[in-house]
Amino acid sequence: GIRGGEKIITFMSCEMLSITNMSLSEIEKVCISLNEERFRARQIYSWIYKHGVNSVDEMTNISSSLRLLLHKKYPPLQSKIETVAKDVDGTEKFLVRLHDNNIIESVLIRNRQRITTCISSQVGCASACRFCASGIHGLVRNLLTGEIVEQLLHIKNSLPNGQRITNVVLMGIGEPFANYTHVLKAIRIINADWGMGIGARKITISTIGLINGIKRLADEGLQINLSISLHAPNDAVRNLIVPTNKDAGIRNILAAAQKYLEKTGREVTFEYVLIDGINSSPKNAKELAERLKDYQCSINVIPLNPVPEFAYRPSSREKIEAFCAVLEKAGLNVNIRRRKGSGINAACGQLTFLKKVVAGFVTAPRSQAHRLGQMRNFHGRNY
Ligand code: SAH
Repeated sequence: GIRGGEKIITFMSCEMLSITNMSLSEIEKVCISLNEERFRARQIYSWIYKHGVNSVDEMTNISSSLRLLLHKKYPPLQSKIETVAKDVDGTEKFLVRLHDNNIIESVLIRNRQRITTCISSQVGCASACRFCASGIHGLVRNLLTGEIVEQLLHIKNSLPNGQRITNVVLMGIGEPFANYTHVLKAIRIINADWGMGIGARKITISTIGLINGIKRLADEGLQINLSISLHAPNDAVRNLIVPTNKDAGIRNILAAAQKYLEKTGREVTFEYVLIDGINSSPKNAKELAERLKDYQCSINVIPLNPVPEFAYRPSSREKIEAFCAVLEKAGLNVNIRRRKGSGINAACGQLTFLKKVVAGFVTAPRSQAHRLGQMRNFHGRNY
């Protein structure tokens, strides 16, 4: 199950860890243990998070002896950009290669002045939702703290001068609450003034509804946003498309969401992927409105993005609007998520990972061949 991922961490932590895995106090301890002053830690962070350097050689105000030690034991980064695909709508998909040669995907979405980054929390996903590409090949492993932070760093470092990341959503590959410890540590680094300095209210975690995760997050004292992927008005429909619902159940999810609101004062957003003929009827909308009408929440309706491996189809524009109209009539706050990045398979639910086993050759399950074809076409090169 989802817990399986936690075991792999023990093994992963034997690897050399980059500085992006460490909190300020941890890197301060490293500096002190090397007989360096505590404030060097902030200088090192400033090189990584403010100046975007990816080698210790560029950290010119750090002594050469400290640089050498860092170089040997704590490299700044442990992942790199494999390639970037750009959609005509301005969306960019970054393929990020990890130290073990797994390749994950992160997305940059532009909307006027807003630059939103959608980042991954796991290599693959154990949830296996019946409409989402990320779970088709199961879970490989959890991402480390640094691998989550570095997705943002890579995107930040690629932006033209004068542009900056304004929003961060954990809506890429994986279930963030199945990798709770690393995700929360990464969020604190992303949020910290010594880190990436992105405001908590600009950071969103999306979950398939893991009750323990929702409960734990309520006690973190963070002002981040919580989105819950609900997708159905009742358990019969949700069990059909979200296998993990058999453990959670809508009643428990809504109760946890209510507790979260009481503890944090933060309104929860419910995501609802609209799948034609499955959860899209006016009757479904009425039942959903009935269940949510007493909650202080918003609903994000996401028109289904087709995934070739699944037979599900999106509803027509008219049906989508009719569905939303029912919710609005019941007094609910509804947004329809605009599709972005579908030209490069970067829209919601279309992200997946690639496994590279031999240098120079990506081997992917057969069903991923279309992705490689698409990336090849875009870059005009084979890899
Ligand atoms: N595992 C977490 C984080 C991923 S968020 C979660 O499920 O919330 C990804 C969002 O995109 C979720 O709301 C998910 O339900 C939605 N999504 C998945 N597949 C989709 C598809 N084919 N079309 C549109 N949205 C999809």
